[in-house]
Amino acid sequence: MTTVHNLGFPRIGAKRELKFALESYWKGESSRDALKGLGAELRKRHWDNQAGLDLVPVGDFAFYDQVLDMSFTLGNLPERVSGFQGDQLDNYFRVARGRSAQSAAEHRSCCGGVAAGEMTKWFDTNYHYIVPEFTAATEFKLDASRLLEQLAEARKQGVKAKPVIVGPVTYLALGKAKDDSNKLALLPALLVAYAQLLNALAAQGVEWVQVDEPILVTELHADWQHAFNLAYHELKACPVKLLVATYFGQLQENLYLAANLPVAGLHIDAINGDDDIRPVLNLLSGHKVLSLGVINGRNIWKTDLTAVLEWLEPLAERLGDKLWIAPSCSLLHVPVDLDSEQKLDAEITSWLAYAVQKLDELQVLAQALRAGRDSVKEALAANQAALAARRSSPRVNNPAVQQAIAEIDAGLGARKSSYPTRAAEQAALLKLPAYPTTTIGSFPQTAEIRHARSQFKAGTLNEADYKAAMQAEIARSVHEQEALGLDVLVHGEAERNDMVEYFGEQLDGYAFSQFGWVQSYGSRCVKPPILFGDISRPRAMTVEWISYAQSLTSKPMKGMLTGPVTILNWSFVRDDQPRSVSCKQLALAIRAEVLDLEKAGVSVIQIDEAALREGLPLRKAQWKKYLDWAVESFRITANGVDDRTQIHTHMCYSEFNDIIASIADMDADVITIETSRSDMELLDAFDNFNYPNQIGPGVYDIHSPNIPTQEHIEQLMKKAAERIPASRLWVNPDCGLKTRQWAEVLPALTNMVAAAKALRQAA
Ligand code: GLN
Ligand code: ZN
Repeated sequence: MTTVHNLGFPRIGAKRELKFALESYWKGESSRDALKGLGAELRKRHWDNQAGLDLVPVGDFAFYDQVLDMSFTLGNLPERVSGFQGDQLDNYFRVARGRSAQSAAEHRSCCGGVAAGEMTKWFDTNYHYIVPEFTAATEFKLDASRLLEQLAEARKQGVKAKPVIVGPVTYLALGKAKDDSNKLALLPALLVAYAQLLNALAAQGVEWVQVDEPILVTELHADWQHAFNLAYHELKACPVKLLVATYFGQLQENLYLAANLPVAGLHIDAINGDDDIRPVLNLLSGHKVLSLGVINGRNIWKTDLTAVLEWLEPLAERLGDKLWIAPSCSLLHVPVDLDSEQKLDAEITSWLAYAVQKLDELQVLAQALRAGRDSVKEALAANQAALAARRSSPRVNNPAVQQAIAEIDAGLGARKSSYPTRAAEQAALLKLPAYPTTTIGSFPQTAEIRHARSQFKAGTLNEADYKAAMQAEIARSVHEQEALGLDVLVHGEAERNDMVEYFGEQLDGYAFSQFGWVQSYGSRCVKPPILFGDISRPRAMTVEWISYAQSLTSKPMKGMLTGPVTILNWSFVRDDQPRSVSCKQLALAIRAEVLDLEKAGVSVIQIDEAALREGLPLRKAQWKKYLDWAVESFRITANGVDDRTQIHTHMCYSEFNDIIASIADMDADVITIETSRSDMELLDAFDNFNYPNQIGPGVYDIHSPNIPTQEHIEQLMKKAAERIPASRLWVNPDCGLKTRQWAEVLPALTNMVAAAKALRQAA
């Protein structure tokens, strides 16, 4: 009989209870015991949610991050916190968040405070983990208490527990050698700790342990492939059964390796890695369990259960009780419970499944495999009906949009003339000085702005008054910019809650949930908008605001838009058409906005692509395909304008080495990027490529309250000018200023403008 299990459950709580408890504890408003109590309550509730499963994950709960939990379990704490005398949980938060005696940023990594562990994206998800730190001297010392306590807790509740841990090779691969030593040299010592951990679990009568090794779906150097063999040959002596879990993609060339590890079972992602299933079947020896991730753990759509059964039934026949089924990956990446949604449109709700509903789907599949489809006839029929309704809904299908997509041709993404011609025309029109100054778009989102918006949403402020309040904010930021002497102004984005949601709310084809929260890191959650249908723009979205801002000044006012790739990458996307098609639909909608802005006399238009890089596939071999459609989408959006209209784009990072050709292909007249912390060295990618257009390398680190000095900005710009001809350089901050205070922004920009003036004089 097929075993049904889960790889992990979201820990944040259906109403983000964990977030609020953490933040109140950090502020000193509630006790540690209250926080720990809430953790226990959430675990209990979530195990109840999973009660019908044959095996339930234990140890997937974390107060901040499961990788950081693993570091504590292995006793691998950064040196700087190892002598801490206080409570273990507080020390854990010290690594997670840093702690400084004085203001956090003034003492980033020195005196009094403790620098936070570095945080980075968990594979291709929007979850961020705390990077384990290693040196040649790293020693491990097992502390199994957290896992054993949770195991005892689960058992007391009658849960059929399967402890979950991050596997040794993935743990090592994701960490960072602070001294550039060879991390693999630590493997033998690491395995001693892992063996102790597995033995401790076995001593508690644990039968199965899930060992997550998602690094197996990435391109692995031969040394790391070898590490897998070493590790699992070492651990096979432990008296527990290991289920090695892989997810997020295909094993491909690592498939033989994964299938032949001396373990009791292998989990593969049957959504993103379905090409692996046939070969795995042939390679896996008969005594091993094959766990298939048949429900998508990365999206919020109902599964086509009948379609899954079509291919799954013959496998179940063949594998018998060696077949397990599960979601493709931990459900950490989806919201908790659709039943929480009160306001979401009923039709759209009927197409969705959050974590709890996904586990229900899994039960239906299991039941069908065990007792035949007839035993779940009604559930399958309801599922079919919901999917059929979605497929044929006029809200999903818009023939005009589909036709526009079919008619896209290469001309749509091409500017009329090449960059030098455009640059000359733009220079004549805009008459900007050398080293022109600008900002990235947003000005501080003050308490008053947020207050007005929440009143407007609650219905206590009417539309006219809300609009007047936002216009007053826009006027304020325009006046401040004029007083500062900036060259190209922005309206400040007061009216925008979020750079994606703002556009999603105005586009047809988007829905917004109330409780569709997903953990991004620690207590931070995001609520991605739901892209469910063909995208169209019923009316102009930004023209009125920008025109108002332009009316207040004779300086050029930048139109400010979010690009299609970023909107796509920060949304829950459709599973019924390729991402590339959704992206092009977004591109056509934003293109219409670009053209409307141009028609309204806006001569500089910025299209932000903050999330272009993070959409890169896990495997380099797939990068080109992604970059091709991403760049084409940007070009469709931007390049319909006249030569005289200056297109800017902005990206909040500076690692361009491996994608510089695609960036150049976007052909924006100006790109602004984040460089202030890299001391301009990251401009080398542009220099080496002979990047032909204009660049604004960030000179003000907006993540910090520090005020950059004029001298520092001049120094940075001089370094930039060693790499990029000064005639093609702009002077601007790293990113938008919405998280800063006016009291910080004004002196910082004063220094920035002064630096630009000094550079002009020296030139
Ligand atoms: N225009 C946006 C802003 O200034 C850009 C934000 C971003 O790149 N993340 O806020
Ligand atoms: Zn940015």
